[in-house]
Amino acid sequence: MPPFECNHDGSCEEVRLCCTDTEMTLTRADAERINALGYDREEYLVKSEDGFCQLRNINGNCYFYDQKTKLCKIYDHRPEGCRYYPIVYNVRKKKCVVDYDCPSRKTVTSQDLRKVCKNVRELVEKLMREAEYRDGPC
Ligand code: SF4
Repeated sequence: MPPFECNHDGSCEEVRLCCTDTEMTLTRADAERINALGYDREEYLVKSEDGFCQLRNINGNCYFYDQKTKLCKIYDHRPEGCRYYPIVYNVRKKKCVVDYDCPSRKTVTSQDLRKVCKNVRELVEKLMREAEYRDGPC
C-alpha cells in the first residue's frame, strides 16, 4: 500500500478538515486491521445509504480523531483512503482529482496525482465490489 504523504502547507494545522465530518469509506481489510487493534467495528463504522461502510463521526469529527492532540489515534493503521487523501477518484469523470475542500490542495503536484491515481482507482473499484456483496450491517 504505497502511502501518499500530504504535502500540506500548514493550512490544516489547526483543524484537519479531512478528519472533520468524514465520509471516508473502509474496505474489509481496513476494518480487519483496525479491529485487530481492539476496536469494535460497531463503534467506529456506520453504513451509508448506498451500502458503504464509513467512519463514524463523533461531535463532527472522525471517531479516531483526537481533539486534544489534533492527531489520528490510529495513524499507522488508518484506512487506505485516508492515506491517499486529498487525492480522490471522481467516478463520474473517471479521473483522479484533488479534493477541492482540502486547504492544502495546491501543494499536491500533477506528479503526485499520476503516482497515486492507479491505487486510488483500484481502491474505489474494490469498495464498489465489496458494497455490492455486503448484506446487513458493516
Ligand atoms: S482515520 Fe485518522 S486520518 Fe482517517 S479520517 Fe479518521 S482521524 Fe483522519
